[in-house]
Amino acid sequence: MSDIIHLLPDSVANQIAAGEVVQRPASAVKELMENAIDAGADTVSLIVKDAGKTLIRVIDNGCGMSDTDARLSFERHATSKISNAEELWRIRTKGFRGEALASIAAIAHVEMKSRLRENELGTKIIVEGSEVKGQEPCATPEGTSISVKNIFFNTPARRNFLKSDSVEMRHIVEEFERVALVHNDVTFTLHHNDNELFHLRASTLRQRVVNVFGVKFNERLVPVNEATDIVSVEGFIGKPEFARKTRGEQYFFVNDRFIKNGYLHHAVKGAFEDLIARDAHPSYFLYLKVSPETIDVNIHPTKTEVKFSEERAIYAIIRSAVRNSLGKYNISPSLDFEQEDVMNVAPMPRNVHVGIPTTKDQYFNPFEREKGSSAKAGSLSSRSGGFGGDWEELYRISEKRREEPQAIFDASTDEAVQTTTKQVVLDLQQKYILTRIRSGFILVHRRRAHERVLYEKALTSLESQSGWSQQKLFPQTVELNPGDCELIEDLREDLYRLGFNIDGFGSGSIVVHGVPAEASELSVESLIENLLEQYKNSVDEVRSDHRERLARSLAATMCIKDGKPMEEVEMIDLIDRLFACRQPSLSPTGKPVIITFDMDDIDKKFKI
Ligand code: ADP
Ligand code: MG
Repeated sequence: MSDIIHLLPDSVANQIAAGEVVQRPASAVKELMENAIDAGADTVSLIVKDAGKTLIRVIDNGCGMSDTDARLSFERHATSKISNAEELWRIRTKGFRGEALASIAAIAHVEMKSRLRENELGTKIIVEGSEVKGQEPCATPEGTSISVKNIFFNTPARRNFLKSDSVEMRHIVEEFERVALVHNDVTFTLHHNDNELFHLRASTLRQRVVNVFGVKFNERLVPVNEATDIVSVEGFIGKPEFARKTRGEQYFFVNDRFIKNGYLHHAVKGAFEDLIARDAHPSYFLYLKVSPETIDVNIHPTKTEVKFSEERAIYAIIRSAVRNSLGKYNISPSLDFEQEDVMNVAPMPRNVHVGIPTTKDQYFNPFEREKGSSAKAGSLSSRSGGFGGDWEELYRISEKRREEPQAIFDASTDEAVQTTTKQVVLDLQQKYILTRIRSGFILVHRRRAHERVLYEKALTSLESQSGWSQQKLFPQTVELNPGDCELIEDLREDLYRLGFNIDGFGSGSIVVHGVPAEASELSVESLIENLLEQYKNSVDEVRSDHRERLARSLAATMCIKDGKPMEEVEMIDLIDRLFACRQPSLSPTGKPVIITFDMDDIDKKFKI
């Protein structure tokens, strides 16, 4: 028999590697931005079209590349960052595998222009699906500009897995934020379809956090500072009273790299114990520095997981660092440590009479107005101040209402009225809810809003160990086919966290003793069947983890159906809960939940 093993051509090997490195447009964004930072740039611009599906361009003013390096940079394992295995342990740059550009060029049309500082001319190189189409000298500013077009053009299966633009864009913004939050000395901009979503000037760390997450964060942050031989911990934690039921902003960075680490998360959460409700999530932005030899960043291709050799010690140090900061803060709650105002207010001249400011609008905030108007079009993430600023108002109203349940707000004037005046909600076709905001009104898609609320609640239950409260039932037997039986048994633990109490597996049927409280209207049988159906239908989404799928499926199963009558109080409650969500503007599958109608626009329409 003849030999049958042969080496794969590079283009194929690259495409396979690309699957690991580039899962979606956001992964390319991450790699390109990291390269720009590694190149020493102090200004990095990200330009994106159609959530990266059409174009991702990163422009930096870093060191640039020579003609040869530009060409080599697209080869696999081509890197300027390490040259031997030993150096792997001393990595200070973000990249080092030399895989990113090769992977990106394997699945997209790439054009790169680059110029070394000392050269007059730069070089332009075009690579499509790993094939170099041409290289020529060109005039270009110093630094590098890379355009990635038509991502996944030659891997249709991957292209088909891409989610809606809003979902993909959310991932891009997330990656952008993760890089921007560490490199506060670098100026970053992000444009999407010609809208400027971020313009972050070089600033202090605190200002960077505030500029990314909105001016309201300024008063929420408490600094953390602890230096030991093993690790130094710097950054900020959110004050306990701002902890939310939905996951807050939680960021760990190790040696300037964003990481996820459940163990260290637990350390922070532990420090907040007894200061916040059990199911609330504290925000934190913690920047750890350790000696590079003590971590292994190589364990995950996209490098968000890191292994520490002194994990336990670091756990204890983080916990006590956070504890200390909380302690300081609790002793003198009115004292705000090193408060750096985003806006510098000049000291008041003496002998000037200052009257009590009068404004009818107790929530008026000039900053939010400005931001709201700049980025209406991209209704992406209402938590990053830039998007749909008017919703901020609803956040405030609903937050406020939770704090003082007896106070009722008139949405048109923002004034609290203790009388019977209520927030105005109107049902439209038993499908939409109309409610007023200061600048006009919004339409809320009831079903999607409810889906979003249930989804976040489910995720929270799945992450925490505490379950959703159960509606106790007389045990009910549900017959299932063997495949479904097996599936439900696999999901047993997670289902329990979600409020299901199921046993009697293995006999072609299951016995249900309890279901999530909010699901009580559905028959147990259809609840289980619909849930399984939803879950199985989401199976093609290989990249989302099974808990997210489960949360999405449960939300889709339990959400209120169009055409079902809703009481006014229920509508108000739904809107409140929606605006307590982390991402109220999108349904769990990325569809719009809210449409804003501006008085100005309405006025204009009547002028014709
Ligand atoms: P890695 O970053 O792991 O080294 P990449 O494939 O991301 O691998 O990049 C390969 C090489 O190309 C880098 O090591 C670097 O020398 C060069 N390079 C990539 N992007 C840039 C850039 N924006 N500016 C300068 N050099 C770059
Ligand atoms: Mg790289």
